[in-house]
Amino acid sequence: MNLFHLLGDFNHEQLIVLHNRAVGLRGFIAIHDSTRGPALGGVRIWKYQNEEEALADVLKLSRGMTYKAALAELPCGGAKAVLMDHDGLQRTAAFEAFGHAVQSLQGRFYTGRDVGITDADLQAIARTTSYVANESSPALGDISEHTAIGVWHALRACLDFAGISVKKARVAIQGVGSVGLLLARILKREGAELVLTDVDAGRARSAAEELGARTVAPDEIYSVDCDVFSPCALGGILNDTTLPKLQTHIICGCANNQLASLETSDALAQRGILYAPDYLVNAGGLIRGAEFYLLHRADSLPSLARIYDRMTRVIEQARTNNQATARVADQIAESRLKVGKTYRDCFWGQAAVPPGNR
Ligand code: NAD
Repeated sequence: MNLFHLLGDFNHEQLIVLHNRAVGLRGFIAIHDSTRGPALGGVRIWKYQNEEEALADVLKLSRGMTYKAALAELPCGGAKAVLMDHDGLQRTAAFEAFGHAVQSLQGRFYTGRDVGITDADLQAIARTTSYVANESSPALGDISEHTAIGVWHALRACLDFAGISVKKARVAIQGVGSVGLLLARILKREGAELVLTDVDAGRARSAAEELGARTVAPDEIYSVDCDVFSPCALGGILNDTTLPKLQTHIICGCANNQLASLETSDALAQRGILYAPDYLVNAGGLIRGAEFYLLHRADSLPSLARIYDRMTRVIEQARTNNQATARVADQIAESRLKVGKTYRDCFWGQAAVPPGNR
């Protein structure tokens, strides 16, 4: 592994290696870009096979956060943390140690919940840092709910473009966890017909009973004949194996990094499948966090509704330029990021040189 080549691939600013042998903490904080403001991004815990896999994940996810923030026109940059789950992990103490590491960055990095993080984990982090989205605060609200509402606005834009009424829409949802279930409830309320799956069969069954939906086995979801396929589980699921199976007009879901590669988005466009870029679609939670902590806004629902307009603009630009929607979204995000970053830009809000030494 050539670390600096890896960091250079996506132009990362900073990588922090987390290690605390006493409590089994192993992981990374990757700050991708802070030129627009402090870097925001959740923490994920996962049983990674090795540190290379964890590192690849944190680098990809943190870059996605920068693009998400830029596309949503937020005054923040992108970062992410990943922790390696393993037998020697002393979970509570490790999350407290992680919180100390976050605190040491003094607001350059704000974190929050991502895949695998429980309420108890969040509470442990909050004991040692104030730079974590405190979901027990009623003023902040439910981050996953904000994400689900944002997905709904993007999905509405896609349906409107395709001329499909939501009341007649057949939506296949992959993963009925925090966001997927809330999205399914919104869609049910709007009159859509739902097909659900989850690797947790009990979760799929209970969601299906609540919503009067049909369930399929996890590997059958790709070939469901539907109007919208909504990936709401993990990333990398749009790839050479799954593409030929798809029988949908639209792909719009909350999962991060759905595309195996940008070329996958070209292949989707060639097949006439409208792909809603994941980081445009799932920005609702980030919008809420940034508006609450950085802009002190009481209500982010009007900002979430703007996801509809952003989605429409990307679809129209993709059609005009004959490009894949994912490429258009990347271009818009990149145009909002400064090209030539300076050392000072990298450490947003902090003096690069102590005042007494200037
Ligand atoms: P979650 O862990 O609550 O839910 C994920 C669900 O997917 C679980 O029920 C899990 O059992 C299921 N699942 C996992 N692998 C599956 C598979 N192969 N097939 C079917 N089901 C599978 O997570 P979440 O918070 O709902 O987030 C879902 C996705 O959305 C993640 O990729 C996350 O990074 C992304 N995301 C979440 C938020 C948020 O606000 N929670 C914001 C932005 C992006």
